Amino acid sequence: MHESVKNDKDKLDIITIDGPAGSGKSTVAKMLSRELDLKYIDTGATYRTLTLLALQNNIKPNDEPSILKLAKKSKIELESNPKDESQYTTVRLNGRDVTDDIRSSKVGAAVSIVSKLSGIRKYLVTLQRELADSGKAVLEGRDTGSVVFPNALLKIYLTAGIEQRVRRRELQNVQKGQKIDAKEIETEISTRDSIDSSRSDSPLTVPQNAVVIDNTNLTILETFEKIRDLYNERIHSKN
Ligand code: C5P
Repeated sequence: MHESVKNDKDKLDIITIDGPAGSGKSTVAKMLSRELDLKYIDTGATYRTLTLLALQNNIKPNDEPSILKLAKKSKIELESNPKDESQYTTVRLNGRDVTDDIRSSKVGAAVSIVSKLSGIRKYLVTLQRELADSGKAVLEGRDTGSVVFPNALLKIYLTAGIEQRVRRRELQNVQKGQKIDAKEIETEISTRDSIDSSRSDSPLTVPQNAVVIDNTNLTILETFEKIRDLYNERIHSKN
């Protein structure tokens, strides 16, 4: 699990995709998971679930000891259903389906505060590594290439211009039958990006040896194909 692992042979058959909100990480990661038969792990969903847990129990999002205490008594499960595009990952908290609840704007507004907390990060990074136990996985988030799996075979940093990212979120909301003002979306994602990039523990950053893809002018399909081809090349030269 060390950055010093230079030989591809020693790297795990894992793709990590990090980047700011709305860069297309989830959509592309699901496509890769399906095509390459990799387990899909949405690490953001784990931070969102602990945020929901805090809110449900009237715990302030910066109260680390209380959140951690409750987290250790709780069970977070991510279950993939690759055939169901609208609910690719079912998220359960103590057996209850919270897939939609973790996407609420209340959770969105508090999640970056919870994810600043080092004890919470340590707890969730352990969980995320366990979820990828098969060693064949695609993870997406903010620190999956820098912290969770620094020795992944392929590390991607995916980004796009803010206008494009806001437009994508707007479209996703429309598909879900929600109408949220573009200005509101922009404020939410830029506030989150700024907190995520400036925190002291595991900030959003380009991981060492990552391939940077700016997909402002690429379609999701083109982005997917680029990453798929890179992964196949690396698997080929590894074996
Ligand atoms: O990916 P998503 O936008 O759902 O992530 C929600 C939040 O969870 C991010 O804004 C960030 O604060 C946190 N997060 C994180 N590290 C990750 C994944 C998500 O800090 N690996």
